[in-house]
Formats: sequence, C-alpha cells, structure tokens
Amino acid sequence: MILVTGGAGFIGANFVLDWLATHDEPVLNLDKLTYAGNRENLASLQGDARHIFVQGDIGDAELIASLLQQHQPRAIVNFAAESHVDRSIHGPAEFIQTNIVGTFALLESVRAWWNGLVGDAKAAFRFLHVSTDEVYGSLAAADPAFTETHRYEPNSPYSASKAASDHLVRAYHHTYGLSVLTTNCSNNYGPYHFPEKLIPLMIVNALAGKPLPVYGDGQQVRDWLYVKDHCSAIRRVLEAGRPGETYNVGGWNEKPNLEIVHTVCALLDELRPAAHGKSYREQIAYVRDRPGHDRRYAIDASKIERELAWRPAETFETGIRKTVQWYLANPDWVAHVQSGAYREWVQTQYSGN
Ligand code: NAD
Repeated sequence: MILVTGGAGFIGANFVLDWLATHDEPVLNLDKLTYAGNRENLASLQGDARHIFVQGDIGDAELIASLLQQHQPRAIVNFAAESHVDRSIHGPAEFIQTNIVGTFALLESVRAWWNGLVGDAKAAFRFLHVSTDEVYGSLAAADPAFTETHRYEPNSPYSASKAASDHLVRAYHHTYGLSVLTTNCSNNYGPYHFPEKLIPLMIVNALAGKPLPVYGDGQQVRDWLYVKDHCSAIRRVLEAGRPGETYNVGGWNEKPNLEIVHTVCALLDELRPAAHGKSYREQIAYVRDRPGHDRRYAIDASKIERELAWRPAETFETGIRKTVQWYLANPDWVAHVQSGAYREWVQTQYSGN
C-alpha cells in the first residue's frame, strides 16, 4: 500500500490512475478536496478495491496517525498543496497553511509513526515530496538551466511556501533519518488540468469564443513536461532514488508562453476549426503582467537521466496534441469543472471508495 496525498488534483489523479494501471499495489488517497480536488478525475476507479479515498487534510494529525496505523503504507507521495501562483498573490495565507504548516504536520505524524516501525519496514519506508522548479527563482536568457545545487530564490508566495516545505523535508532526513526524496519538476500539462492554468485556459477560452489572456509580452519562458512523464519520473524516484537526494524533472522543452498559445491555437484550428472561419489566434488579448512574474525557468534533468535512467516518453509536440485531443473529447469534464458541478457529482455518483 502507498499513501498518496492530493490524489484528486491534476498531477495526483494522473499519478493514481497510472499507478493502478501498472501496479497491483493499492493506493490510499488522502485529499482535502479544495476547489482543485475533483473526484470526477478518479471516476474510472469507481468500484476498484485497490483505491481507498479519504477526504481529509494533511495537517490533521489525528487523522494521519490513524491512517498510518491502519494501513501501514510502505511509502508516501506528497502532492497535496495549494498550487496556483496567481491565487497565492491574492491570498497567500492558505499557501502558508497547507504547503508549510500542513507539510510540517504531515512530517511530524509520519515521524512519530515511523519511529515505532522496526526492521525492514522501517528501512524500506520512503517519503517522496513533489515540488516545483519555481523554488529556484528566475533565470536570465543566457543562464544555464537549474541543477539540483542551484540556490533557492523563490519569488512568489507559492514558490516560497514550496521552498519552505522542501527545506522541512530535507531537515527530517538530516535530523531524524527519515528516508525522504524530493522531486522538483517544471510546468506540467495534460489531462485533468484545472482550467485556471495556461494551457487548459487557452483551450477552453478559445472554444468558448472568449479572449485568450497573455500576460505582458508573452515571452516568459517555461520548461514543459507532459504530466504522465512526471508521473513516470516519480515512480522511478520512488523505486530507485537515493534517500536524502533531490531530483530535477523536466522535458528539455523551454518555450515562451506566447509560443505555447500559438501552438494550442494551431492545433485547435486543425482539429476543431472555429465557426467564424479565422484562426483562434485572433482571440489573443495581452493583459497586464503578473507582479514579480519570473522571466525564465529551465530544468537540467541530467541527474535523473544519468542516475535513474529516466527519460520523458513524449516530446512537446506529441504531448500537446494528446492534451488538446483530451480536452476536445471531454467537454463534460470541462463543463462540470467550470460550473462547479463536480462537487455535486461527488455527492450523487460516489458513496464508497
Ligand atoms: P492541484 O492544485 O491540481 O492539486 C492539489 C490537490 O491537493 C487537490 O486535489 C487539493 O484538493 C489537494 N489539497 C490541497 N490542500 C490539501 C490539504 N491541506 N490536505 C490534503 N489535500 C490537499 O495541484 P497539481 O498541479 O496537481 O500539483 C500537485 C503537486 O505538484 C503540488 O505540490 C505542486 O506544487 C507540485 N508541482 C506542480 C506542477 C504543475 O505544473 N502543476 C509542477 C511541479 C510541481
């Protein structure tokens, strides 16, 4: 049994679905179901006894202690977080609460339980913390990509809160001997991505005939990784990563935001031409830049490639095509998320796991 936190969110849900498609080992999925948690993402697991869903907070020490005692997981993969940079600018408190205080509380619960383990169970246990490349701050155009030894320089409340959680996880290894692993990944995209993030927002707005808002000049550079490649990297680190180590995960796909928007528009022009007969590019609208907007992130993923022989399976071109196709094939999912109906769906469709 593994315990996954935040497994109803974008990456967590993809991870749980992929895990159960490739492993017999059950998953205990703990998620608070904030606005970003959507059990409809896990609909295909309905009736699958290998998936146990518990609604709860990583900061709830009593709940975590009882789940650990009852299920004795051999590993924890911690996805649970507040994850949207813009939301962190408008209201940082929840980011501090979940990403810092929550991770700390989870580590404390895990430490207390893990201390009581003996022998192989104690030695084999792993705590994998899923983090972001945003902790490293912003790069100038000519700077080399972030390696694992790049100093932390977070610039938003989101990245600062993730940086703090990374440091706590590290400290629990060095101070208490907990076998932790940390992954710092670049921007993910793919199925089940909440339409507040760049790529799904562009797809959804384009199809709805709405403006495609591009911050500033659109020349902010990000590295992009198809979500299922991130999931395969996490599985690989869990399987073979060295305790106490951090691994950068990326797709070697540095692209300016505007190019991403152009690519999405071109795919939609091909796959679902607009009724007005023009390219979706006509809907692009430049908006005032985000305060403190980092100019460039770039991930050097050579350590995970060298040490763990992990490589992404998708190129940006194949991954983005699959993503656009997924959104076109799942209008109900989009409509439910946009209307908030996925909350109702939880009540009506789900009663058990
Ligand atoms: P998301 O916002 O889609 O999902 C987060 C999930 O965590 C939601 O299901 C939410 O309900 C749950 N959650 C929030 N607070 C919780 C709490 N206190 N207790 C239990 N569950 C809680 O986020 P995501 O994009 O899937 O990101 C998952 C993780 O990966 C985050 O830690 C994020 O920092 C990291 N990450 C994301 C990206 C990316 O591009 N999305 C890139 C690198 C790293």
